[in-house]
Amino acid sequence: MQITEMLLTNKTARPGIIMTPKALVIHWTANESKGADARANRSYFNQPTTEASAHYIVDDVEIIRCLPENEMGYHVGAKSYKPEAVKRLSAYPNNCTIGIEMCVNTDGSFQAMYKKTLELAVDILKRYQWGIERLWRHYDITGKNCPAFFTADDYAHKYFGTGAAEAWNRFKQDIHNLLTSNPQKPQDHVDNCNIQVALPAKGILRAGVSYLPVRMVAEAVGGVVGWEADTKRVTVNGQQLDVSIENGIAYAAARKLAEVLNREASWESASRTVTLVPKSQNTG
Ligand SMILES: [Zn+2]
Repeated sequence: MQITEMLLTNKTARPGIIMTPKALVIHWTANESKGADARANRSYFNQPTTEASAHYIVDDVEIIRCLPENEMGYHVGAKSYKPEAVKRLSAYPNNCTIGIEMCVNTDGSFQAMYKKTLELAVDILKRYQWGIERLWRHYDITGKNCPAFFTADDYAHKYFGTGAAEAWNRFKQDIHNLLTSNPQKPQDHVDNCNIQVALPAKGILRAGVSYLPVRMVAEAVGGVVGWEADTKRVTVNGQQLDVSIENGIAYAAARKLAEVLNREASWESASRTVTLVPKSQNTG
């Protein structure tokens, strides 16, 4: 997946406020004109009078990054918000959400744009270790009819041949499938090496047991992580793990996690590094 970085310089659309993202919001530019592609929308965001922005704009040929993911954009502002959004996000959801604008210019391919959006959304969810429960439509936050092909039946029929609820469910299912099916092919060359994983956050130490973020550690050694959002059941290489969810990240006891990966783990909390040693090599 390629991302073209064209950060906005327009301060009314990019206020430079640092945020910690909690969720991903999907939009549609609602402009079906010829040429209304990602670059055209980026140019619009960058006009000095524009007070709207999003982190990414996707069309059928490219993904443009307009804002760093840890900077606030103006994509879900409203006079009032749905109670669920206030409860799970914040009283001002712009300050904790990453926005993706999908472009449906008539001279582009809807299918190609859809596929690129899936890739980008999956990449973001994986990097933050989020499941599809972190995926919102603009509509879910403010009630705005956006993205219309996921909220209004006439537009959904036009682009998906189904009703809007079914189209949105299909989008979420497509993402869920990409998140849970072989996120990374097992890599032969890592099988016999000691692998070190640098954690973005500290592991957790509870009652003398250390807990590690499941997806990050497992995928570093080619492990396949499965995640059922409904049941909160997590599997690694097909084996179920007991996990606890902290800030949306699944943690498992280091020893148990290493076991299903057929390794032994040692964790250095000062440097936030986990070392995974293949069992066969471990003489201790
Ligand atoms: Zn929107």
